[in-house]
Amino acid sequence: MKTVRSRVFDVVVVGGGPAGSAAALFLARAGLATLLVDAGGSPLAGVARLANYPGRPDAPSGAAFLKAVWQQAEAAGARRRAGYVGEVEDQGGVFVLGLEGGEEVYGEALLLATGEDLRLVAILGLARRGTFVETDERGRTSYPRVYAAGRIRGRVPEHAAVSAGDGAWVAVNLVSDLRGEPYRDHQE
Ligand SMILES: Cc1cc2nc3c(=O)[nH]c(=O)nc-3n(C[C@H](O)[C@H](O)[C@H](O)COP(=O)(O)OP(=O)(O)OC[C@H]3O[C@@H](n4cnc5c(N)ncnc54)[C@H](O)[C@@H]3O)c2cc1C
Repeated sequence: MKTVRSRVFDVVVVGGGPAGSAAALFLARAGLATLLVDAGGSPLAGVARLANYPGRPDAPSGAAFLKAVWQQAEAAGARRRAGYVGEVEDQGGVFVLGLEGGEEVYGEALLLATGEDLRLVAILGLARRGTFVETDERGRTSYPRVYAAGRIRGRVPEHAAVSAGDGAWVAVNLVSDLRGEPYRDHQE
């Protein structure tokens, strides 16, 4: 617990639905210190049979699917905290995120994958497009070092596979921005 509180992560992903979980996997595999914070409210968790996810002909429950993606991210080195982020502040280049209950976590970059919840978008004053956060094609918001993926950016139709793909896409772009060159996670 103390380690998480005192550690500044390279990226904090907020939201552990398919977009955030896939993003955490790609960020961790890129070697970034990655923390996922999730309040556990993905609608997918209540789906009995996820029958349209490519490569999963077994049609797992949404909850089982999310658990499997998280386990893959954890095996790649990502860490996770359960909780709702109610506050965020940029303190000299480090984002301080306040969880309900009073704990804080810290990150140099943020990836918001909070579905339809725009609380952090409002606090940070991010540009919006209707009921979504405005991003460029690569997932960059109007605030430096803050990215968004999945349902929250309103560019992908409401399906788990598309949100997961968007999380991977934005994570790869974030890594590319940090490294200053195109990143790809390929096995040689
Ligand atoms: C009833 C229903 C059935 C569906 N069935 C299917 C289906 O069969 N197949 C399919 O492909 N798609 C289905 N979908 C669509 C699918 O669930 C969504 O497209 C997908 O979950 C969106 O993923 P996401 O990661 O963008 O956001 P979400 O899944 O919404 O995840 C957002 C996560 O962020 C968390 N969060 C939000 N704010 C905060 C905060 N401030 N701090 C911490 N955590 C936060 C939430 O608790 C949640 O866990 C269904 C949707 C619904 C509503």
